[in-house]
Amino acid sequence: MIGRDERILQFVYTLRSKGVTDERVLMAMEKTDRAIFIRGTFTERAYDDMPLPIECGQTISQPSVVGIMTQALKVGPRDTVLEVGTGSGYQAAVLSHLARRVYTIDRHRRLTEAAEARFRALDMANITVFTGDGSFGLPGQAPFDRIMVTAAAEDPPGPLLAQLREGGIMVVPVGQSDAVQTLIKVTRTPDGLDYEELLPVRFVPLVEGRGDH
Ligand code: SAH
Repeated sequence: MIGRDERILQFVYTLRSKGVTDERVLMAMEKTDRAIFIRGTFTERAYDDMPLPIECGQTISQPSVVGIMTQALKVGPRDTVLEVGTGSGYQAAVLSHLARRVYTIDRHRRLTEAAEARFRALDMANITVFTGDGSFGLPGQAPFDRIMVTAAAEDPPGPLLAQLREGGIMVVPVGQSDAVQTLIKVTRTPDGLDYEELLPVRFVPLVEGRGDH
């Protein structure tokens, strides 16, 4: 049996070897115990670099993908960030160490309630959780400095692009739900939108409307 410290060392080593090199991002991920965001027997695999099942048929993303997406977002300490797809809350918790404020939204109430309870237990007071269809963003809280979408859309949703501040960055997996998806970085410049393809990824689909539970 290896201890948590050793697991964390290996975890950070794996993240680095997969291209997560930003020290602030590595620090945020080191501080966020992924085991807290996973239930049941899967907690044993919390520090493995793999996605794992969570409630409502969804998944907590692979840590190296969380790292690469967080790094691509270039979050600063004064930034307001919107995350679409709360899931377990893990990604939002990582972001909360880097941003001034994090808004996160999921269509499943069961997931948002569990995530909110975790944030409260961890004293993460700068995260606000919403339940609803995140493809419309949060008009009341917009504009955002950074937007991260953690479910795959066919195209970057228009309302989210509209809620991105000038100079703002959005990362979003784009593609047909089960086919190849590409992680896209969108930057709002004074002249419009700049698109950059980052890497192939596989996410659960962005689904319209509220979840049943
Ligand atoms: N970021 C999460 C993993 C996300 S899995 C984590 O760190 O654990 C993708 C999530 O997107 C799922 O929880 C799913 O319910 C949610 N989702 C899918 N379509 C959505 C939509 N239109 N609005 C809000 N959430 C959505």
